[in-house]
Amino acid sequence: MRATSHDVLVIGAGPAGSAAAISAIRAGLRVALIDKALFPRDKLCGGGVTARAYGYARAVFGDLPDGLFHISRSVRFFSGPVSLARLDHAPPIYMTMRAAFDAELRTRAIAAGAQDFCGQRMAECLPGAGRVTLAGGQVLTAPLMIGADGVHSGVARALFGRGHDPATIGFALEAEVPGAPGPETGLDMTALPFGYGWDFPKAQGRTLGIGGVSVQEKDLRPRFHDWLRARGVDPATVKIKGHHLPSGASRAVPGRGTVLLAGDAAGLVDPITGEGIGWAILSGRLAAEAASEALRAGAPQTALIRYQAHMRPIRAELLRARLLAKLVYHPALQPRLLRALGSSDHFQRRYLALLAGEMDYADLGPRRLAGVVWRVLRGRVGGSRLDARGSGG
Ligand SMILES: Cc1cc2nc3c(=O)[nH]c(=O)nc-3n(C[C@H](O)[C@H](O)[C@H](O)COP(=O)(O)OP(=O)(O)OC[C@H]3O[C@@H](n4cnc5c(N)ncnc54)[C@H](O)[C@@H]3O)c2cc1C
Repeated sequence: MRATSHDVLVIGAGPAGSAAAISAIRAGLRVALIDKALFPRDKLCGGGVTARAYGYARAVFGDLPDGLFHISRSVRFFSGPVSLARLDHAPPIYMTMRAAFDAELRTRAIAAGAQDFCGQRMAECLPGAGRVTLAGGQVLTAPLMIGADGVHSGVARALFGRGHDPATIGFALEAEVPGAPGPETGLDMTALPFGYGWDFPKAQGRTLGIGGVSVQEKDLRPRFHDWLRARGVDPATVKIKGHHLPSGASRAVPGRGTVLLAGDAAGLVDPITGEGIGWAILSGRLAAEAASEALRAGAPQTALIRYQAHMRPIRAELLRARLLAKLVYHPALQPRLLRALGSSDHFQRRYLALLAGEMDYADLGPRRLAGVVWRVLRGRVGGSRLDARGSGG
């Protein structure tokens, strides 16, 4: 079959791939957008779009329809069935359903001019040759490729021989409960070790899940069943699905040769919160920018080094999160964290600002971070103020 040539092949039309495609089109490149699914397609996800991610989405795709989001401003922290605290007027979280959200982003990328290869699986990827063969036999070629094909990326496998190691990344179970939107966002800090549980209000129901950075239990289902029952949901009445999330698995070099990896394929998921949509959109955009710069310079082989430079702030942020995750999820320190969440309004708001993407880990700064660690270690958070922006210990 005749090969079709583009400037960039984007594999995967989730948030990372659609962001890469639309950004590359705006930079004047000829783009093929490939996905095995026809859209709208489901993607297992809490669909919690943080303020940061919402900002990235608007910057790349323009204003998004209000109907895509149910905005949650009330949050309750739990420890199992025990309510620790409820906060009203919390930073907004834009709750969405991924089928609709991703379909909107993909539609915009296609409308901008990306050539549509959705509904066609990438069957073979030859990164060195800049060549992808689709399941139907069609061959696409380009000097650059962006692998945005998710946590089990076939592009990453073609580059490195294997994707993320399932034994070392996170895993989550989720169920959709149709009906009226839940009254608040529920966060259960003790739903499982090294993870948490979420009860996200949606326009037409709730999304409930438990998941963790590194899940040691072989089968989370019995635990999830008990957790659902404790939240008033009969597990027999809902469909339970599981999916890996590459929390804390970001690749030191996000690609190889003339191939760049973005989003989950590059392991860009926050190891504390499990947030990945925002990093997927930003990394997709940065990959497209690096591709465009390299092609304009007539040197496609320089795209990866340019991309790495653009990605430095994201990598640094995920590294900080990784360090902080050791503290947040340390079994010996968790009782103190729970006390702080239950008793300190200031700490609750700071913690939420991080979760909701209104504050970056970088805002903590090394001295303040050390101060937080010191105070938690000394057990001075219970009843007292844990001021993330405070005096720095
Ligand atoms: C249970 C769970 C809950 C989560 N909750 C949240 C949350 O509330 N907020 C948040 O920000 N993040 C959350 N995440 C993380 C978030 O879902 C991901 O980080 C995000 O989807 C990454 O986007 P992406 O574009 O990189 O990959 P994806 O959205 O996975 O898109 C990859 C695309 O590649 C396509 N593809 C794969 N293989 C091929 C192939 N061979 N050929 C062609 N196409 C292919 C797939 O069809 C898919 O459309 C959650 C994850 C899980 C598992």
